[in-house]
Amino acid sequence: MVLCPKCKSEIDVEEDELEEGELLSCTECDSDFEVASVEPLKLTKASDEDEAEEDEE
Ligand SMILES: [Zn+2]
Repeated sequence: MVLCPKCKSEIDVEEDELEEGELLSCTECDSDFEVASVEPLKLTKASDEDEAEEDEE
């Protein structure tokens, strides 16, 4: 079982089935996380405020 980094609730996914870059949603705090690495498991917050898209031109 995977724990939400924000609210520490269990996210209902199989840790074994996660892939790097996969997105998870916590149903408790309604946050989205991206799997940054699977071994060890590391989740990063998938925040759209944080995205640096400077690639427009
Ligand atoms: Zn949460």
